[in-house]
Amino acid sequence: MHELNLAMEILEIVCKTARQHNLKRVTDIWVVSGEMTGVASEALEFGFEIASKNTLAAGARLNLRRLAAIIRCDACGCRYPWKAHGFKCPECFHSGGEMVQGKEFYIDYIEGDEREYQQNDSS
Ligand SMILES: [Zn+2]
Repeated sequence: MHELNLAMEILEIVCKTARQHNLKRVTDIWVVSGEMTGVASEALEFGFEIASKNTLAAGARLNLRRLAAIIRCDACGCRYPWKAHGFKCPECFHSGGEMVQGKEFYIDYIEGDEREYQQNDSS
């Protein structure tokens, strides 16, 4: 399952980042997912729930932020949503352009609780 693999990759990065920032527990994770990645949010959340058991991120909310696919027209440079127009510019009717948004997939932000005590650096 594609989403389970993704969930495990997210988990790995989240746990590593959490340790680097002395987080005791991860409570929220924001993931940015472009429209073209085709990631199913429910499957990803489900996969993450399974993968995160007995980790720092167990029980964390996985929030998916969708980015619409955007095309920049080759001819006039305007930007328009792929979903509504495909690759045909609504302004100048030119066919062809570059997808400038919509393929992203990354962890945007992690929130959690810090350790209750910090190691004292008494040097
Ligand atoms: Zn155009």
